[in-house]
Amino acid sequence: MNNRVANFSAGPSTLPLSILEKAQADLINWQGSGMSVMEMSHRSKEFMSIRDNAEATLRKIANIPDDYAVLFLQGGASLQFSMLPINLGQEGKPVDVINSGSWTKKAIKEIKKESEVNIVASSEEDNFLKLPDLSTISFSDNASFTYMCSNNTIFGTQFKSFPKTNAPLVVDMSSDILSRQLNISDFDVIFAGAQKNIGPSGVTIVIIKKDLLDRCPDRAPSMLQYKIHAENDSLYNTPPTFGIYMAGLTFEWIAEQGGLAAIEAQNKKKAALLYDAIESNPLFYCPIPKEDRSDMNVVFRIEGDREELEKTFIEEAKAVGLRELKGHRSVGGLRASIYNAQPIENIQALVDFMQSFAQKQ
Ligand SMILES: *Cc1c(COP(=O)(O)O)cnc(C)c1O
Repeated sequence: MNNRVANFSAGPSTLPLSILEKAQADLINWQGSGMSVMEMSHRSKEFMSIRDNAEATLRKIANIPDDYAVLFLQGGASLQFSMLPINLGQEGKPVDVINSGSWTKKAIKEIKKESEVNIVASSEEDNFLKLPDLSTISFSDNASFTYMCSNNTIFGTQFKSFPKTNAPLVVDMSSDILSRQLNISDFDVIFAGAQKNIGPSGVTIVIIKKDLLDRCPDRAPSMLQYKIHAENDSLYNTPPTFGIYMAGLTFEWIAEQGGLAAIEAQNKKKAALLYDAIESNPLFYCPIPKEDRSDMNVVFRIEGDREELEKTFIEEAKAVGLRELKGHRSVGGLRASIYNAQPIENIQALVDFMQSFAQKQ
Protein backbone atom coordinates (compact mmCIF):
# COMPACT_ATOMS: atom_id res chain seq x y z
CA MET A 1 0.00 0.00 0.00
CA ASN A 2 1.21 3.49 -0.76
CA ASN A 3 -1.16 5.35 1.59
CA ARG A 4 -2.31 7.72 -1.11
CA VAL A 5 -5.55 9.64 -0.55
CA ALA A 6 -8.31 10.33 -3.05
CA ASN A 7 -7.16 13.82 -3.99
CA PHE A 8 -9.86 16.04 -5.55
CA SER A 9 -7.68 19.16 -5.67
CA ALA A 10 -8.38 21.65 -8.49
CA GLY A 11 -4.67 22.15 -9.10
CA PRO A 12 -1.98 21.13 -8.69
CA SER A 13 -3.90 17.91 -8.83
CA THR A 14 -3.62 14.18 -8.82
CA LEU A 15 -1.30 12.54 -11.38
CA PRO A 16 -1.44 8.97 -12.66
CA LEU A 17 0.27 6.77 -10.06
CA SER A 18 2.06 4.86 -12.82
CA ILE A 19 3.88 7.97 -14.04
CA LEU A 20 4.87 8.96 -10.51
CA GLU A 21 6.33 5.49 -10.10
CA LYS A 22 8.11 5.75 -13.42
CA ALA A 23 9.56 9.13 -12.45
CA GLN A 24 10.60 7.65 -9.12
CA ALA A 25 12.39 4.78 -10.81
CA ASP A 26 14.16 7.22 -13.16
CA LEU A 27 14.73 9.88 -10.54
CA ILE A 28 18.40 9.48 -9.75
CA ASN A 29 19.55 7.77 -12.92
CA TRP A 30 17.48 8.43 -16.02
CA GLN A 31 17.67 5.47 -18.39
CA GLY A 32 21.30 4.65 -17.66
CA SER A 33 22.52 8.22 -18.23
CA GLY A 34 23.91 8.29 -14.68
CA MET A 35 22.00 11.52 -14.06
CA SER A 36 18.64 12.71 -12.92
CA VAL A 37 16.60 14.65 -15.47
CA MET A 38 16.92 17.52 -12.98
CA GLU A 39 20.70 17.48 -13.36
CA MET A 40 20.96 17.36 -17.15
CA SER A 41 21.94 20.23 -19.37
CA HIS A 42 18.89 21.38 -21.26
CA ARG A 43 21.08 21.24 -24.38
CA SER A 44 22.27 17.67 -23.79
CA LYS A 45 21.39 14.91 -26.22
CA GLU A 46 19.43 13.21 -23.43
CA PHE A 47 17.25 16.17 -22.57
CA MET A 48 16.71 17.07 -26.24
CA SER A 49 15.31 13.57 -26.76
CA ILE A 50 12.99 14.01 -23.74
CA ARG A 51 11.74 17.35 -25.07
CA ASP A 52 11.38 16.14 -28.66
CA ASN A 53 9.49 13.04 -27.53
CA ALA A 54 7.17 15.08 -25.34
CA GLU A 55 6.30 17.36 -28.26
CA ALA A 56 5.94 14.48 -30.71
CA THR A 57 3.65 12.53 -28.36
CA LEU A 58 1.53 15.62 -27.68
CA ARG A 59 1.23 16.26 -31.42
CA LYS A 60 0.17 12.69 -31.96
CA ILE A 61 -2.44 12.40 -29.19
CA ALA A 62 -4.00 15.83 -29.86
CA ASN A 63 -3.61 15.55 -33.62
CA ILE A 64 -1.84 18.92 -33.90
CA PRO A 65 -1.30 19.97 -37.53
CA ASP A 66 2.17 20.98 -38.76
CA ASP A 67 1.16 24.60 -39.17
CA TYR A 68 0.94 24.95 -35.38
CA ALA A 69 3.94 25.47 -33.08
CA VAL A 70 4.02 23.75 -29.68
CA LEU A 71 5.77 25.71 -26.95
CA PHE A 72 6.76 24.75 -23.42
CA LEU A 73 6.93 27.99 -21.47
CA GLN A 74 7.06 29.21 -17.88
CA GLY A 75 5.07 31.75 -15.89
CA GLY A 76 1.87 29.72 -15.69
CA ALA A 77 -1.34 30.32 -17.55
CA SER A 78 -1.43 33.74 -15.90
CA LEU A 79 1.58 35.02 -17.84
CA GLN A 80 -0.31 34.20 -21.02
CA PHE A 81 -2.89 36.82 -20.04
CA SER A 82 -0.11 39.37 -20.71
CA MET A 83 1.78 37.60 -23.50
CA LEU A 84 -1.32 37.23 -25.66
CA PRO A 85 -2.12 40.93 -26.13
CA ILE A 86 1.59 41.77 -26.45
CA ASN A 87 2.01 39.19 -29.23
CA LEU A 88 -1.35 39.29 -30.97
CA GLY A 89 -2.74 42.75 -30.22
CA GLN A 90 -2.95 45.16 -33.15
CA GLU A 91 -2.96 48.95 -33.10
CA GLY A 92 -6.47 50.36 -32.86
CA LYS A 93 -8.19 46.97 -32.84
CA PRO A 94 -10.13 45.59 -29.88
CA VAL A 95 -9.88 42.16 -28.30
CA ASP A 96 -13.27 40.42 -28.17
CA VAL A 97 -13.76 38.55 -24.92
CA ILE A 98 -16.34 35.99 -23.84
CA ASN A 99 -16.43 36.40 -20.07
CA SER A 100 -17.35 33.17 -18.30
CA GLY A 101 -15.56 33.43 -14.98
CA SER A 102 -12.80 34.59 -12.67
CA TRP A 103 -9.89 33.43 -14.80
CA THR A 104 -11.24 35.36 -17.75
CA LYS A 105 -11.67 38.42 -15.53
CA LYS A 106 -8.01 38.16 -14.62
CA ALA A 107 -7.16 37.90 -18.32
CA ILE A 108 -9.31 40.96 -19.10
CA LYS A 109 -7.37 42.98 -16.53
CA GLU A 110 -4.10 42.22 -18.30
CA ILE A 111 -5.41 42.50 -21.88
CA LYS A 112 -6.74 45.98 -21.04
CA LYS A 113 -3.19 47.15 -20.34
CA GLU A 114 -2.36 46.57 -24.02
CA SER A 115 -5.61 46.76 -25.96
CA GLU A 116 -9.19 47.87 -25.86
CA VAL A 117 -11.43 45.04 -24.62
CA ASN A 118 -14.88 44.38 -26.03
CA ILE A 119 -16.92 42.00 -23.85
CA VAL A 120 -19.08 40.29 -26.47
CA ALA A 121 -20.80 37.91 -24.05
CA SER A 122 -20.79 37.50 -20.29
CA SER A 123 -22.52 35.53 -17.56
CA GLU A 124 -21.26 37.76 -14.77
CA GLU A 125 -24.83 38.89 -13.99
CA ASP A 126 -25.62 35.26 -13.21
CA ASN A 127 -22.56 35.08 -10.97
CA PHE A 128 -21.02 32.84 -13.64
CA LEU A 129 -23.26 29.96 -12.54
CA LYS A 130 -24.02 29.34 -16.20
CA LEU A 131 -22.26 29.94 -19.49
CA PRO A 132 -22.88 33.01 -21.63
CA ASP A 133 -25.07 32.33 -24.67
CA LEU A 134 -22.84 32.00 -27.72
CA SER A 135 -25.66 31.94 -30.26
CA THR A 136 -26.47 35.65 -30.00
CA ILE A 137 -22.96 37.14 -30.00
CA SER A 138 -21.98 39.80 -32.43
CA PHE A 139 -18.23 40.02 -32.75
CA SER A 140 -16.30 43.19 -33.64
CA ASP A 141 -15.54 43.58 -37.38
CA ASN A 142 -11.92 44.34 -36.62
CA ALA A 143 -10.94 42.38 -33.49
CA SER A 144 -7.26 41.47 -33.22
CA PHE A 145 -8.33 38.24 -31.55
CA THR A 146 -11.18 36.62 -29.64
CA TYR A 147 -10.50 35.32 -26.14
CA MET A 148 -12.34 32.77 -24.01
CA CYS A 149 -11.84 30.05 -21.40
CA SER A 150 -13.10 26.54 -22.21
CA ASN A 151 -13.55 25.25 -18.66
CA ASN A 152 -14.26 27.43 -15.66
CA THR A 153 -12.39 25.66 -12.90
CA ILE A 154 -13.93 27.69 -10.08
CA PHE A 155 -17.57 27.67 -11.18
CA GLY A 156 -17.75 24.21 -12.73
CA THR A 157 -18.92 25.20 -16.21
CA GLN A 158 -17.50 23.98 -19.51
CA PHE A 159 -18.16 24.95 -23.12
CA LYS A 160 -19.22 21.97 -25.25
CA SER A 161 -18.85 23.93 -28.47
CA PHE A 162 -16.88 26.95 -29.64
CA PRO A 163 -17.78 29.97 -31.75
CA LYS A 164 -16.66 30.45 -35.33
CA THR A 165 -14.85 33.76 -35.46
CA ASN A 166 -13.11 35.76 -38.15
CA ALA A 167 -10.48 36.94 -35.70
CA PRO A 168 -8.04 34.34 -34.30
CA LEU A 169 -9.67 32.34 -31.52
CA VAL A 170 -7.57 32.10 -28.34
CA VAL A 171 -8.68 29.69 -25.63
CA ASP A 172 -7.50 29.16 -22.06
CA MET A 173 -7.78 25.37 -21.70
CA SER A 174 -5.84 25.16 -18.44
CA SER A 175 -8.35 22.91 -16.73
CA ASP A 176 -9.62 20.75 -19.58
CA ILE A 177 -6.79 20.41 -22.07
CA LEU A 178 -6.47 16.83 -23.36
CA SER A 179 -9.71 15.82 -21.66
CA ARG A 180 -11.66 15.36 -24.91
CA GLN A 181 -11.28 15.20 -28.65
CA LEU A 182 -11.11 18.60 -30.29
CA ASN A 183 -10.25 19.72 -33.76
CA ILE A 184 -7.13 21.85 -33.24
CA SER A 185 -7.78 23.70 -36.50
CA ASP A 186 -10.89 25.25 -34.91
CA PHE A 187 -8.54 27.29 -32.71
CA ASP A 188 -5.62 29.65 -33.31
CA VAL A 189 -4.06 29.60 -29.86
CA ILE A 190 -4.64 27.07 -27.08
CA PHE A 191 -2.81 27.52 -23.81
CA ALA A 192 -2.76 25.73 -20.48
CA GLY A 193 -0.83 25.65 -17.26
CA ALA A 194 0.27 22.06 -16.75
CA GLN A 195 -0.81 21.52 -13.17
CA LYS A 196 -4.39 20.38 -13.81
CA ASN A 197 -4.31 17.80 -16.56
CA ILE A 198 -0.67 17.46 -17.57
CA GLY A 199 1.95 17.47 -14.84
CA PRO A 200 3.62 19.54 -12.15
CA SER A 201 3.21 23.32 -12.07
CA GLY A 202 5.91 25.31 -13.80
CA VAL A 203 5.26 24.35 -17.41
CA THR A 204 2.78 26.14 -19.63
CA ILE A 205 1.78 24.62 -22.94
CA VAL A 206 1.05 26.97 -25.84
CA ILE A 207 -0.21 25.62 -29.16
CA ILE A 208 -0.18 28.45 -31.67
CA LYS A 209 -0.85 28.77 -35.37
CA LYS A 210 2.52 29.57 -36.94
CA ASP A 211 1.22 32.41 -39.10
CA LEU A 212 0.51 34.38 -35.91
CA LEU A 213 4.12 34.28 -34.73
CA ASP A 214 5.16 37.27 -36.84
CA ARG A 215 2.59 39.62 -35.36
CA CYS A 216 4.69 40.42 -32.32
CA PRO A 217 6.55 43.75 -32.42
CA ASP A 218 10.35 43.40 -32.05
CA ARG A 219 10.37 45.87 -29.17
CA ALA A 220 8.53 43.35 -26.96
CA PRO A 221 10.77 41.69 -24.36
CA SER A 222 12.41 38.64 -25.95
CA MET A 223 11.21 36.29 -23.23
CA LEU A 224 7.63 37.36 -23.95
CA GLN A 225 7.77 36.70 -27.70
CA TYR A 226 6.21 33.45 -28.89
CA LYS A 227 8.27 33.77 -32.05
CA ILE A 228 11.56 33.63 -30.18
CA HIS A 229 10.49 30.60 -28.16
CA ALA A 230 9.27 28.89 -31.35
CA GLU A 231 12.50 29.60 -33.24
CA ASN A 232 14.46 28.10 -30.36
CA ASP A 233 12.29 25.00 -29.81
CA SER A 234 11.40 26.40 -26.36
CA LEU A 235 15.12 26.38 -25.46
CA TYR A 236 15.76 30.13 -25.71
CA ASN A 237 16.61 29.99 -22.03
CA THR A 238 16.59 27.10 -19.58
CA PRO A 239 13.11 25.60 -19.75
CA PRO A 240 11.39 23.81 -16.83
CA THR A 241 13.16 20.57 -17.70
CA PHE A 242 11.70 18.27 -15.07
CA GLY A 243 8.18 19.51 -15.75
CA ILE A 244 8.60 18.88 -19.48
CA TYR A 245 9.80 15.35 -18.70
CA MET A 246 6.74 14.74 -16.50
CA ALA A 247 4.43 16.20 -19.15
CA GLY A 248 5.96 13.78 -21.64
CA LEU A 249 5.14 10.87 -19.34
CA THR A 250 1.54 12.06 -19.09
CA PHE A 251 1.24 12.32 -22.88
CA GLU A 252 2.49 8.74 -23.17
CA TRP A 253 0.03 7.65 -20.48
CA ILE A 254 -2.81 9.22 -22.50
CA ALA A 255 -1.69 7.31 -25.58
CA GLU A 256 -1.59 4.08 -23.53
CA GLN A 257 -5.15 4.70 -22.30
CA GLY A 258 -6.29 4.62 -25.92
CA GLY A 259 -5.85 8.30 -26.73
CA LEU A 260 -8.28 11.18 -26.33
CA ALA A 261 -11.32 9.23 -27.55
CA ALA A 262 -10.92 6.75 -24.69
CA ILE A 263 -10.04 9.52 -22.22
CA GLU A 264 -13.15 11.48 -23.22
CA ALA A 265 -15.42 8.45 -22.83
CA GLN A 266 -13.96 7.72 -19.40
CA ASN A 267 -14.29 11.37 -18.33
CA LYS A 268 -17.97 11.40 -19.36
CA LYS A 269 -18.57 8.23 -17.37
CA LYS A 270 -16.81 9.62 -14.31
CA ALA A 271 -18.70 12.92 -14.42
CA ALA A 272 -22.07 11.16 -14.94
CA LEU A 273 -21.42 8.97 -11.90
CA LEU A 274 -20.92 12.00 -9.68
CA TYR A 275 -23.63 14.26 -11.14
CA ASP A 276 -26.14 11.38 -10.91
CA ALA A 277 -25.26 10.92 -7.25
CA ILE A 278 -25.82 14.65 -6.64
CA GLU A 279 -29.12 14.73 -8.54
CA SER A 280 -30.54 11.60 -6.98
CA ASN A 281 -29.80 12.64 -3.40
CA PRO A 282 -32.12 15.27 -1.88
CA LEU A 283 -29.34 16.52 0.42
CA PHE A 284 -27.22 17.81 -2.49
CA TYR A 285 -27.71 19.93 -5.55
CA CYS A 286 -25.62 21.24 -8.44
CA PRO A 287 -26.07 24.99 -9.07
CA ILE A 288 -25.11 24.71 -12.75
CA PRO A 289 -27.67 23.96 -15.52
CA LYS A 290 -27.16 20.49 -16.98
CA GLU A 291 -25.96 21.58 -20.40
CA ASP A 292 -23.25 23.83 -18.95
CA ARG A 293 -21.74 21.42 -16.42
CA SER A 294 -18.05 20.67 -16.45
CA ASP A 295 -16.75 17.12 -16.74
CA MET A 296 -13.60 18.25 -14.90
CA ASN A 297 -14.71 20.34 -11.91
CA VAL A 298 -17.94 19.20 -10.31
CA VAL A 299 -19.35 21.95 -8.14
CA PHE A 300 -22.14 21.05 -5.72
CA ARG A 301 -23.78 22.23 -2.55
CA ILE A 302 -25.86 21.01 0.34
CA GLU A 303 -29.54 22.01 -0.03
CA GLY A 304 -30.18 25.40 1.55
CA ASP A 305 -26.49 26.23 1.25
CA ARG A 306 -25.93 25.07 4.81
CA GLU A 307 -22.34 26.14 5.24
CA GLU A 308 -21.85 24.50 8.64
CA LEU A 309 -22.98 21.17 7.27
CA GLU A 310 -20.74 21.62 4.23
CA LYS A 311 -17.85 22.13 6.61
CA THR A 312 -18.75 18.93 8.44
CA PHE A 313 -18.98 17.13 5.09
CA ILE A 314 -15.46 18.28 4.16
CA GLU A 315 -14.05 17.26 7.55
CA GLU A 316 -15.67 13.85 7.63
CA ALA A 317 -14.66 13.18 4.03
CA LYS A 318 -11.10 14.08 4.89
CA ALA A 319 -11.13 11.63 7.78
CA VAL A 320 -11.83 8.79 5.35
CA GLY A 321 -9.18 9.87 2.82
CA LEU A 322 -11.35 11.97 0.47
CA ARG A 323 -9.43 15.23 0.27
CA GLU A 324 -9.69 18.76 -1.16
CA LEU A 325 -13.47 18.87 -1.54
CA LYS A 326 -13.83 22.49 -0.51
CA GLY A 327 -15.18 24.85 -3.16
CA HIS A 328 -12.97 27.75 -4.27
CA ARG A 329 -12.68 30.39 -1.57
CA SER A 330 -14.51 32.91 -3.78
CA VAL A 331 -17.68 30.78 -4.15
CA GLY A 332 -17.77 28.40 -1.17
CA GLY A 333 -19.68 25.12 -1.32
CA LEU A 334 -18.14 21.87 -2.49
CA ARG A 335 -16.08 20.93 -5.50
CA ALA A 336 -14.57 17.69 -6.70
CA SER A 337 -12.00 18.04 -9.45
CA ILE A 338 -11.96 14.89 -11.51
CA TYR A 339 -9.33 15.46 -14.17
CA ASN A 340 -8.01 12.73 -16.48
CA ALA A 341 -5.87 11.14 -13.79
CA GLN A 342 -8.65 10.83 -11.21
CA PRO A 343 -9.44 7.12 -10.98
CA ILE A 344 -13.13 6.21 -11.18
CA GLU A 345 -12.66 4.23 -7.95
CA ASN A 346 -12.05 7.53 -6.12
CA ILE A 347 -15.27 8.97 -7.51
CA GLN A 348 -17.16 5.84 -6.50
CA ALA A 349 -15.71 6.20 -2.99
CA LEU A 350 -16.93 9.82 -2.89
CA VAL A 351 -20.40 8.78 -4.11
CA ASP A 352 -20.59 6.09 -1.41
CA PHE A 353 -19.49 8.60 1.21
CA MET A 354 -22.16 11.10 0.07
CA GLN A 355 -24.82 8.45 0.48
CA SER A 356 -23.77 7.44 3.96
CA PHE A 357 -23.35 11.10 4.97
CA ALA A 358 -26.87 11.91 3.76
CA GLN A 359 -28.35 8.97 5.63
CA LYS A 360 -27.00 10.33 8.90
CA GLN A 361 -28.67 13.74 8.49
C1 LIG B 1 -5.52 27.39 -12.84
C2 LIG B 1 -6.01 28.22 -13.96
C3 LIG B 1 -5.30 29.35 -14.40
C4 LIG B 1 -4.07 29.88 -13.70
O1 LIG B 1 -2.99 29.08 -13.87
P1 LIG B 1 -1.54 29.50 -13.31
O2 LIG B 1 -0.67 28.47 -13.95
O3 LIG B 1 -1.60 29.40 -11.83
O4 LIG B 1 -1.23 30.87 -13.76
C5 LIG B 1 -5.79 30.04 -15.49
N1 LIG B 1 -6.90 29.65 -16.13
C6 LIG B 1 -7.61 28.58 -15.72
C7 LIG B 1 -8.85 28.18 -16.45
C8 LIG B 1 -7.18 27.82 -14.62
O5 LIG B 1 -7.89 26.76 -14.22
